[in-house]
Amino acid sequence: MQCGSAKVEYRIPHGEDRERHVCGECDYIHYLNPKIVLGTLPIWEDKILLCKRAIEPRYGLWTLPAGFMEEGETLEAGAARETLEEANARVAFEAPNLTPYVTISLPQISQVYMLFLTRLCDLNFSSGIESLEVKLFRENEIPWDQLAFRTIEEALKHFFSDRKLGQFLPHISEIQHQRK
Ligand SMILES: [Zn+2]
Repeated sequence: MQCGSAKVEYRIPHGEDRERHVCGECDYIHYLNPKIVLGTLPIWEDKILLCKRAIEPRYGLWTLPAGFMEEGETLEAGAARETLEEANARVAFEAPNLTPYVTISLPQISQVYMLFLTRLCDLNFSSGIESLEVKLFRENEIPWDQLAFRTIEEALKHFFSDRKLGQFLPHISEIQHQRK
């Protein structure tokens, strides 16, 4: 990454407590850190928008619009961008929901999910390139056995549970195994 002239070694750099990718020539340390996945729960009346995945992993299963945060992006901008890319949907982040609604650490795969509660601005949504189908679901229509990820299942459960209580508070948790 730095000098481009040597192979990378996997060793504990001086003064650190764990193995890192280190350049054998110039000692440049290439740090690997967790990735942030940003997305939204887009709400319209009593329904919530889900996307059927057109890509692996979990091709053909349902998910919330979400994806990896890009360089130089804010949390809200990334979540809105993913929602536009996957569902061609425009969403409004309503105060006090400018904080992530559901934050889930996935330490085993080094990811952090941050999902925002939003309102769909209109019904002019459609499948983006990564979706086979985009559709609004009432609670009793949610395809629970065809959800792509446990993070999505957990976010939806929080939403329906909070809606019954009439209060949406942030949820922070962790999942050790993302696969269902
Ligand atoms: Zn180097």
